[in-house]
Amino acid sequence: MSGQPQTGGGPRPVLALSGGIGGSKLALGLARVLSPGALTVVANTGDDFEHLGLHISPDIDTVTYTLAGVQNPETGWGRADETWSFMTALHELGAETWFQLGDRDLAVHVERTRRLRAGVPLSEITADIGRSFGIASRILPMTDRRVRTRVITQDGPLDFQRYFVEQRCAPAVTGFVFDGAPEAKPHPDILAMLCNPELRAVVICPSNPYISVDPILALPGLWDALAACNAPVIAVSPIIGHEAVKGPTAKMMAELGYTVDVLTVAQHYRGLLDGLVIDTVDAAMAGRLHVPVVVCPTLMRSLSDREELATAVLGFADRLGRCARRTG
Ligand code: GDP
Repeated sequence: MSGQPQTGGGPRPVLALSGGIGGSKLALGLARVLSPGALTVVANTGDDFEHLGLHISPDIDTVTYTLAGVQNPETGWGRADETWSFMTALHELGAETWFQLGDRDLAVHVERTRRLRAGVPLSEITADIGRSFGIASRILPMTDRRVRTRVITQDGPLDFQRYFVEQRCAPAVTGFVFDGAPEAKPHPDILAMLCNPELRAVVICPSNPYISVDPILALPGLWDALAACNAPVIAVSPIIGHEAVKGPTAKMMAELGYTVDVLTVAQHYRGLLDGLVIDTVDAAMAGRLHVPVVVCPTLMRSLSDREELATAVLGFADRLGRCARRTG
């Protein structure tokens, strides 16, 4: 356990910003080392889309399944012990099968879509689904409004899932548009947490900065609220050495013209961070970073890796919380 600073009102809250696979690994570590209920995970909804008449929220579901311990350990997305009768039947109909939907997973999308159509906000549905899985942490969509990431590629703009799943991230990217973000509002509870003097830390999980974290930061007022909040804001680098652990982060970074390393990650979040956690393989870079740094193993293979990284992040936050912060 990580010290669990308490106040009269119980353990101090921690806010984590997360995409899907990488983010949820650290979110699980945080959930396990914090007191039950202390963690709120803000999930990206820029990847959400409508498919086969269903509203699919890939990052919310990855965080939910991971925190519930029912995620597929091989893929990182979807559920373990999944069956695929629905996909097989869909294929036999000659229908679109480029996006994989397991039978158990499907139940979540059907129920979410039914309730959204009845006018229930996504945040309430997400909370209820989390409760039904027995999750003590809070999972909060970044907004209840519609935001859709579009990937600008050399072949033209693509809806996110067409780029990510159907085209397997093959087209070279030149930029991103978060449709609806300028008109959307961050979920009000995020802003309320950022104003809470008891907030212990904000953790930017090791998620893809461009397509998982930036849609969250693009919501009006959120960057300023993060920069102004009293709690230390700490990112964990999704880049280790000159590579991403999984997914297109490194490919995107290179295509956008940046060097693939932790300096680019730090530069991306410049003005927001009080600290950056980098991997031991990047120790030589520590002196070149403009923010306080903790160097530790950040590759999360096992459950104890996740817990140890979460403990290191919280310890770093607690040390920073006692110092004057945010210099550049
Ligand atoms: P997605 O929405 O499913 O693509 O997932 P995220 O955006 O949350 O995570 C993708 C990022 O997680 C990639 O940049 C990976 O490099 C990073 N990542 C995945 N696993 C790990 C890990 O164990 N350690 C670190 N440091 N980064 C990781």
